Amino acid sequence: MSTTILENELFESFANASDNIYIYVCDMKTDISRWSKNTVDYFNLEGEYIKNTGPKWMEYIHPDDRAAYIKDIEAVFSGASNRHSCQYRAKNKYGDYVWLECKGSVISDENGQPLVFAGLMTRLDNQNKYDPLTHLLTSYEMQKYDFTTGHGAILLLGINSFRMINNTNGFLYGNKVLVALSEYLEQTAGKDNRVFRLQGDEFVILSPNSSKKELGKLFENVNNHCTNIRGLKSFSVSAGLVSYPEDGTDFNTLISNLEHSLEYAKEQKNEWIAEFSDKISQRHLRISQLHEALTKSIRNNFKGFELYFQPILDAKTKKITECESLLRWKTPEIQDTTPYEFIKILEDSGEIREVGTWVMEEALRHAALWQKKYHDIGVSFNVSYIQLLDGEFINKLIAKAQELEVNPQLVMVELTESCNASDTEMLSLQFGKLQKLGFKIAMDDFGTEYASFGLLHDVSMDVLKIDQKFVRGLIREGNLTDMAIIENVVNMCRQLSIQTIAEGIETEEIQDIIRNIGVSYLQGYLYSKPVPAVTFEQMIEKERQCLINENLF
Ligand code: C2E
Ligand code: CA
Ligand code: CA
Repeated sequence: MSTTILENELFESFANASDNIYIYVCDMKTDISRWSKNTVDYFNLEGEYIKNTGPKWMEYIHPDDRAAYIKDIEAVFSGASNRHSCQYRAKNKYGDYVWLECKGSVISDENGQPLVFAGLMTRLDNQNKYDPLTHLLTSYEMQKYDFTTGHGAILLLGINSFRMINNTNGFLYGNKVLVALSEYLEQTAGKDNRVFRLQGDEFVILSPNSSKKELGKLFENVNNHCTNIRGLKSFSVSAGLVSYPEDGTDFNTLISNLEHSLEYAKEQKNEWIAEFSDKISQRHLRISQLHEALTKSIRNNFKGFELYFQPILDAKTKKITECESLLRWKTPEIQDTTPYEFIKILEDSGEIREVGTWVMEEALRHAALWQKKYHDIGVSFNVSYIQLLDGEFINKLIAKAQELEVNPQLVMVELTESCNASDTEMLSLQFGKLQKLGFKIAMDDFGTEYASFGLLHDVSMDVLKIDQKFVRGLIREGNLTDMAIIENVVNMCRQLSIQTIAEGIETEEIQDIIRNIGVSYLQGYLYSKPVPAVTFEQMIEKERQCLINENLF
């Protein structure tokens, strides 16, 4: 009997039908219950089948909610009610309490004896009044607020690099940061203001009586506090600021304007707070337009994307030894964007993965072609950190190089925006795999991020690209710093058998200084801007022709 109840096909079908609904059925005669697999996973239950269910499930329920739960369930089992319906908090696998609505009913046999107790639990996250982690009000509560009357200001706070904090220190540490910040916000917000937690690392302070200026001041206090919380590493926050009714009179408009302002603030190097303005609104519009057009290009077989190539020269011979592939994109409607602008959008949306694979294949296609034509011209291409997160990219790269019979020694991967590279163990593993096969790995823009040295310590590199900022600084009057930095980096690399490339060489004067310091390779407008493949080929052919002529005469 018990197996037919628990092994019911209907149970299987319902259990597979939804992620956010948790299904259970209990054989009342044996007191063995069965739970859908998503329930087992989300609550970390001991298994799909549980004996003696009542007391075991009770341990998951929040102590404050147990009395209400017991009362309801006892009414069902005593026969006083045949339906169980109750809301309570239960602890999930992350150790967080989530609100559940639990509904169930009892089926009795012909003698009135309870036979089966079955039901389902629904998560109430979206409708929760309080956030289970921080106990702050949720965005659901904020939506109820009437923004059409009165004047007020709203601050949206986001923790800077929260993803990195989570990645490096673990999920539980990330939770501690959220709780500590929420406690401080409640303490300092003042009694007239309300604090809400939106999703992830975002918090709102809604102030019906104060001005944007006053909230700006509060933001400063919060940021000062974040550097100094006992037991936590220092972190910082950014913020967007709006006032109502000026910047909107409904929840959706205000939140969207706040999000755009926060996004803008996070991009600024020196300002961590941004008031909503026409400029921010225009900028958001442009990003949306570009994003839409980029997605269209990607779907349209990467139409509009093209690789340009910039020569890299051996510093001793001043001959072209390789080139860097640089992505270009334009459409009939959009002609005025830069790689910095559109690549950032691709990175934020995650579409850099698809485009990055296209770049890699195009770069390898040219490497194969030039290997046949010119034998020893290397090709490098840029890779963003997020392209490497799933390990697939490296496999595709290896497979493509084999398919095209490209010599790995002629291929170099440049890791851009190394500041986000928090999982150095993963990088080390993936790059190690490439290096074993002979591919070269370069760290791009060395020195621009404070994490550069840390990354160098953890991940083996073949080449460092010294950022243009230092190279251009060489001829600024009275500037000894950049010279000292480059000299020391080059010395360090020599000791570590790492080669160096100086980027952004625009004048003979800079070239001479760089060559004197002993940098291995040169790249910059002095030699050539990035050019289409055919132009690059002409450059090589011209150089080789000159060499032949020199040898003849
Ligand atoms: P990057 O990797 O540092 O590339 C060097 C940038 O400096 C290129 O800008 C190049 O045109 C420019 N440059 C080279 N020599 C000089 C010079 O002498 N003076 C000046 N002022 N600039 C010089 P570009 O092509 O606009 O690319 C910008 C950035 O976009 C790249 O910086 C790289 O971070 C990113 N990027 C480009 N292509 C790709 C790609 O395929 N994938 C990814 N993930 N990022 C890419
Ligand atoms: Ca690069
Ligand atoms: Ca660079």
